[in-house]
Amino acid sequence: HHAKQRENSTCPYTQTMRHGLQRRQVMSERLSAAINEHKLKLYFQPQVDLISGRLTGAEALCRWYDAELGWVSPCEFIPLAEECGLIRMHGDWLLTEAARQLSVWQTGNTPLPGRLSVNLSAQQFADPHLTAHIARLTAGVPPSAIGLELTESEFMRDPDQAVEITHTMRRAGYLLAIDDFGTGYSSLAYLRRFAADTLKIDISFVREMLENKNDRTIVKTIIAMAQALEMKTVAEGVETPEQARLLAEMGCNEAQGYWFGHPLPADEFAAAWLTP
Ligand code: C2E
Ligand code: MG
Ligand code: MG
Ligand code: MG
Repeated sequence: HHAKQRENSTCPYTQTMRHGLQRRQVMSERLSAAINEHKLKLYFQPQVDLISGRLTGAEALCRWYDAELGWVSPCEFIPLAEECGLIRMHGDWLLTEAARQLSVWQTGNTPLPGRLSVNLSAQQFADPHLTAHIARLTAGVPPSAIGLELTESEFMRDPDQAVEITHTMRRAGYLLAIDDFGTGYSSLAYLRRFAADTLKIDISFVREMLENKNDRTIVKTIIAMAQALEMKTVAEGVETPEQARLLAEMGCNEAQGYWFGHPLPADEFAAAWLTP
């Protein structure tokens, strides 16, 4: 029998939602137009240091509002973009837009401290020239200001190639995080070889860590492992001060979640988080 796969709570609907064929058809057409016409928007969620409470960076998260469909979650449109061959175009836009926003904050005298992280998809990661491509798209900002996030399962599609690409990225100066850590199946042998500097602890372990001893143990173990590998930890989905306190006690470095701040449009993010 199969072990029940842990539900990745970042995208709670992906498994249960039954898409009508028609909705998918309509959605893929409208998504294609939206991507072509640059109608998607970037929101920014703060990441903070758990000891000092200071801003350590932000994650850029994509938002899509369609007049007919309303708000569509990235949990729905990112997989669709991957299936429809739109993800590279979207990924290019995302990197360009992230770099543009960083420059705007910089020249407006409200620089973002730390890094701005963007999510990459496995299809982008399959490009052997990805690092050079990213460098071209983000030429206006230093690589050390950009964090690249890839989920654990994306790393593990072709782990040997992933090892190589991660080293190229790190040599070029980019920061690199393994996203949704704990939900995939990476072997410890590979984890050690990936040149990632950060592990993001998946929200599904954080959510019930106060009530559920097993989840607490998993979080503790991930932090210990990251420390042993000299990687930084960022906890996802921190919604309460109790979670934040416990994570800090456990030695987790940074956190991201509604307790600290929701993803916000650029101007609102700057007003709330960036001081001139
Ligand atoms: P992710 O990279 O793991 O991003 C974290 C997700 O957790 C975001 O969902 C964020 O809004 C949500 N979140 C943050 N804090 C909390 C919290 O305290 N509680 C809860 N319940 N959720 C929280 P979002 O924005 O819906 O994005 C979902 C996923 O879609 C992301 O997961 C990422 O993998 C993907 N994604 C989003 N934008 C892009 C994009 O432009 N390109 C690619 N390739 N993927 C993207
Ligand atoms: Mg992410
Ligand atoms: Mg994540
Ligand atoms: Mg996640």
